[in-house]
Amino acid sequence: MRTCDACGAAGLAVFGDLGEIPVLCGVHWADAAEAAASPVGQMTLAVCPNCGYVRNVAFDPAVLVYDTTMDTNLHHSPAFQRFSAELCERLSRRYELRGKRILDIGCGQGEFLRELCHVSGATGHGFDAMYAGVTGPDPSGAVFHSGYAPRGAALPEFDMFTTRHWFEHLADPYEFLLDLRERAGDRVVHGYVEVPDAGYDLSTAGWEVIYPHVSYFDAYALTTIAERAGWTVEDSGTFFHGMFRYLELSANKPGSGASAALLTDRDRTLAAVSGFAQRHHEERGRWEQRIARLVAEGANPVMWGAGSRGVQFLTLADRTRQLAAVVDVNPRKWGRYLPVTAHRVETPDVLVRLQPKAVIITNPAYRPEIAAQLAALGVDAELLIA
Ligand SMILES: [Zn+2]
Repeated sequence: MRTCDACGAAGLAVFGDLGEIPVLCGVHWADAAEAAASPVGQMTLAVCPNCGYVRNVAFDPAVLVYDTTMDTNLHHSPAFQRFSAELCERLSRRYELRGKRILDIGCGQGEFLRELCHVSGATGHGFDAMYAGVTGPDPSGAVFHSGYAPRGAALPEFDMFTTRHWFEHLADPYEFLLDLRERAGDRVVHGYVEVPDAGYDLSTAGWEVIYPHVSYFDAYALTTIAERAGWTVEDSGTFFHGMFRYLELSANKPGSGASAALLTDRDRTLAAVSGFAQRHHEERGRWEQRIARLVAEGANPVMWGAGSRGVQFLTLADRTRQLAAVVDVNPRKWGRYLPVTAHRVETPDVLVRLQPKAVIITNPAYRPEIAAQLAALGVDAELLIA
């Protein structure tokens, strides 16, 4: 039995088998046949009864290698951009980042680090295997690297590390935090970790349970893994309707020390886990039937949002491509095909012609902006949240 990455206890208990799901849910193919033949991986969820940490125990790092053709970027959404801007202001003030050195691990296309440096007057290094922009120094004060961040002494010195929506992708999250802690030595260093919140992901149907997400953390498990790696938790909270969780960390900071871990969070996760397999099975069936009914009624149902959450929904509930269209605001996806199901991604403009009566979205945080865009297109449709 596998040892728990978060608390180190022996024995994760399997509670959910989602079968084979797309591995490359952030990749969009130019060719439909290639998309249909894209790799799948086994998803077997297991939980630690001691701390509530959840992991895909069937995860195979060899089948998931990140490169610049992938795009898991959340920055195309105005709502996410707004949150990021507020976060830059807050971190800059709270940790007095002027003149400090930031390390952004899993920096995406550099949007966040660029803004953080700009707002705070800090400099920094950004690493991401999916980073497809210009590498090297950037006018913002950041230096970008296309590739995985090194471990050990090859990592640049830092006063604060940030990692947003990358920690849950790691096969060895504990070793990652331990390495950063060792790099900090006896200097005062801060950290910011942002992940999808397990309390949300595991209490819904499982559209958020995707192959690239190896780990699922609630506040308790995330605090547990950070403290075991030698970090002090300064603050934690959720945003985006509880979908995302952040943890602010410190090392060697005078006056910090008390644990923020709450057993109520762990117990909520353990309760969600116990009903997950049945809920997942029922939701899949319910959505297949609902789509079939909408098609039969001539409602031209479509899905808005071809992110990894959408890909997982389509894999589970629309394998036979009954939807009239899948649209997305990201131009990089237009005219390309989604993994395994091979749905073609269209620009939202096609909805003017299709005039769907039902638009499925998998992310409630985007509801207001999608509703506004539908209104602007002259589409009068019911928004269905999966
Ligand atoms: Zn544990």
